[in-house]
Amino acid sequence: MRIVLISTPIGFLGSGKGGGVELTLNSLVSGLLFLGHSVDVIAPKNSKLYESNEKAKLHFVDGEDQISWQHQNYNSPVSIPDNSLLAGMLEKGLDIAKKADVLLNMSYDWLPIWMTLNVEIPIAHIISMGSESSVISNLITKVYAKHPYNFAFHSKIQADDYPFIKKPIIIGNGFKLDNYTFQDSVKGPLAWVGRVAPEKGLEDAVYVANKLGEKLKVWGVKEDETYASEIEQSFPQGTIDWMGFLSTNELQKELGKCRVLLNTPKWNEAYGNVVVEALACGVPVIAYRRGGPSEIIQHGKTGYLATPDDKRNMLSYVEIIEKIKRKNCREWVEKNASTDKFANKVVNWLNKVINEY
Ligand code: UDP
Repeated sequence: MRIVLISTPIGFLGSGKGGGVELTLNSLVSGLLFLGHSVDVIAPKNSKLYESNEKAKLHFVDGEDQISWQHQNYNSPVSIPDNSLLAGMLEKGLDIAKKADVLLNMSYDWLPIWMTLNVEIPIAHIISMGSESSVISNLITKVYAKHPYNFAFHSKIQADDYPFIKKPIIIGNGFKLDNYTFQDSVKGPLAWVGRVAPEKGLEDAVYVANKLGEKLKVWGVKEDETYASEIEQSFPQGTIDWMGFLSTNELQKELGKCRVLLNTPKWNEAYGNVVVEALACGVPVIAYRRGGPSEIIQHGKTGYLATPDDKRNMLSYVEIIEKIKRKNCREWVEKNASTDKFANKVVNWLNKVINEY
C-alpha cells in the first residue's frame, strides 16, 4: 500500500507538544515500512522522524498550530487560524494521496473529518482522544453513518466515549522494542512522565511522593506553566525533581532506573503511551483504573490499578510495588504492543476502509 500520514497540527514531531501522537506516528511508520508499505508523512516544519524511518518521505508544512481541544470548553466552536497548519497539511496530503491508496489522519480535529464527506480519496482517522468536543463527536456521528470503517481507536474504553459506534475498531498502539532497555532497578526513585497539564493529574503523584518523604522525578513538556507552578508551590520545596523533556532514548535510560511509574489521568486517557514505555523498561506502573491504562496494566502482575482519584489507595500500592516482577512488565509489551503487531492491525483496518470505497 501507499499510505499518506497526516501528523498532529500541534507542535512539530520531536517537540513533545503533540503528546503521544508523535511517538505513535513514528512507531506506525516503522511498522509499515517493515511490512513493505510505502509511507509519506505530512508534518509541521522542523519535524523529525526516527533515523530508522529514513525510507519514509517527509513533507513539511509551515503554519499556525491548532488549539488543543482538551483545553477548550466541550461546546467550543471550531477555530481555524489564518495560515492554518492543519489546512496546509490537509491540502498537501490530499494532493499526494491522489497517487496513494489512503490518507491516514492522526490529528484530532474537525477539518480532516469533515473532508472525509467531501473527497473521493479514502480518509481514515486514528482518533487519539476520548470525546473532548461536541462539534467533533457530532461530526464523527455523521461521517460514521456514511463510512462506518473510517475510524479506529486505541482502546475499548476510549471508544466508549463514542457510544454511537457499535463495533469500534481497536488498534492499540505500538512501541519499537529495541528503543527500550530492560533494567532491574528495584530500589530506584518514583517516576511520573507526561505533558504537564491538568488532565494528567500530576498533583496526585506529588502527594504520594510527599507522603513517602521522597522526591518525584517528572519528565515532560510543561504545557501549562501556571498549573506546574501551582503544584510546585503547594508541596514542600524540592518534592518535584523537574527532569525536562527528553528524547525517547534518553528518557528510557532514566525511566528504567525508577522503581515505579505513577500515572494519574483525570480524563479518559485514550491509551497512555508512557505506561507502556515504562513497562518496556521493566518499570511497573500504578495508575488510576480509568482510560487506556486500565486495559494495559494487569493488576498485581505488571503494576496496580488504584481507585480513580484515591491518592491514598495509590500510595498503598507503592508500598508493595516490589511484589511485581519487572520481567512480567517487559514481557507484556513484547507480546502485546510491538510495532509490527500494531502495524498489522492498522493495515487490516486500512484494507477494510479501502475495500469499502
Ligand atoms: N515524552 C517524551 N519525553 C519526555 C516525556 C514524554 O518523549 O521527556 C513522550 C512519551 O514518549 C509519550 C508522550 O510524551 O509518547 C506522552 O504520551 P501519552 O500517550 O502518555 O499522553 P498524551 O500526551 O498523548 O496525552
